[in-house]
Amino acid sequence: MEISPIPTLSKEINKIRENTAEIVADKIIPNESIIYEGGESAKELREEIKKEVKDKKLWAPHLPEEYGGMGIGFMAHAYMNEILAWSPLSNRLFGVIAPNSGNQKILLKYGTDDQKKKWLEPLISGEIESAFSMTEPDNAGSDPRSIKTSAKKEGDEWVINGHKVMTSNGIRADFAIVMCRTEEEDDSGEVNSKMTQIIVPTDTKGFNIIRSVPIWGRTGGDHVEIKYEDVRVPIENQLGARGSGHAAAQDRLGAGRVFHCMNSIGQMWRAFDLMMQRTTTREVHGGLLESKQLIQGFIADSYIDIQTARLMTIHCAEVMDSEGDPRVDISAIKIYVPAAMHRVVDRAIQVYGWKGVSSDLPLFGMYQGARTLRLADGPDEVHRILIAKQILRKYKEGHSWDFGI
Ligand SMILES: Cc1cc2nc3c(=O)[nH]c(=O)nc-3n(C[C@H](O)[C@H](O)[C@H](O)COP(=O)(O)OP(=O)(O)OC[C@H]3O[C@@H](n4cnc5c(N)ncnc54)[C@H](O)[C@@H]3O)c2cc1C
Repeated sequence: MEISPIPTLSKEINKIRENTAEIVADKIIPNESIIYEGGESAKELREEIKKEVKDKKLWAPHLPEEYGGMGIGFMAHAYMNEILAWSPLSNRLFGVIAPNSGNQKILLKYGTDDQKKKWLEPLISGEIESAFSMTEPDNAGSDPRSIKTSAKKEGDEWVINGHKVMTSNGIRADFAIVMCRTEEEDDSGEVNSKMTQIIVPTDTKGFNIIRSVPIWGRTGGDHVEIKYEDVRVPIENQLGARGSGHAAAQDRLGAGRVFHCMNSIGQMWRAFDLMMQRTTTREVHGGLLESKQLIQGFIADSYIDIQTARLMTIHCAEVMDSEGDPRVDISAIKIYVPAAMHRVVDRAIQVYGWKGVSSDLPLFGMYQGARTLRLADGPDEVHRILIAKQILRKYKEGHSWDFGI
């Protein structure tokens, strides 16, 4: 991994990237197989790396300093993410553990002081785990207005009934933030703003895990299906104002999509590096792979895919950071980047032959991850519709689209 200072970035951000790269390249990547194997030596190694991360003040880039994080802001975190992503193990070793990290940000923004004390602080210290429970098996996850799980007020309690699925980390979670319908549709059928997020401790009576959903054939994972059956929680477990659930979900997903894309870019970068190692060393049909024009096409196309994805994502992050309207750019990267990653990883797999699909390399995991990302956080089709809607609106208002902002 070669990470040089980026001339347009501040010294601080470049230093963060350099220090992050040192740990990822020297400590994490060479030890991936030991850490995956688990056991005592993996535990020791993980603790050693975490200590170095903390000593170098690189712990929890998503959190403010008063909560033990780096307090570095959105752009620095985005730029750090593409380095972290070189190894799938890094985020956890740097204190960013999904879905806890997203829940921490939501609790920071919407939580009361009491909620922060009770849920946020132990979540940050690692004493407890959490989940985010929005998607339902019988209603379209891509249309949050269709959510049916209801919360009704009875005295000083919310009573929750509903059926959720793909609640990640659900088995280990001590609490779930549950998206509930707390108000009825009005005459126009408008329900978008009538969702509320409610904190549900997972040991509450009626929080019933039905099964763990196997993903890509892996059983025993932690994406779970849950029935909420007369689950009673105190009114003060409501997170944010009544009806703010949809806005809170968008808050979580907006910045999250930029981080996910920078994460995909880091993975593509590593896949590209691996592909280059193979093409410059593997002899086939009387010459190195690098001498074959079909393979030179792989190199050029992958460069173009990565650079396009990276520049689009950085542009989107800059629009967000300057408080412009990032909606079209968020949807554009959410479609483009996983698809580009899919192509880049696919070429890397191809040049490795059997090894590409084996567990000797991280490529198969990246390949599945890229495919999964086309569904999670909103499927491609929904984002295409959003892009077209925004652009059409501009033209209908008599303007044209300005690509410069
Ligand atoms: C690995 C993983 C982890 C996840 N973790 C969580 C989690 O922790 N918590 C949680 O709540 N959810 C989670 N999800 C769920 C995820 O958010 C949903 O899968 C996603 O929002 C899509 O919803 P759905 O699966 O219900 O698909 P649906 O809404 O049923 O959509 C199915 C398909 O229909 C098509 N489609 C949808 N709308 C349109 C349209 N208007 N026009 C044309 N085609 C359309 C798209 O191709 C879409 O993929 C996770 C998903 C995955 C894969």
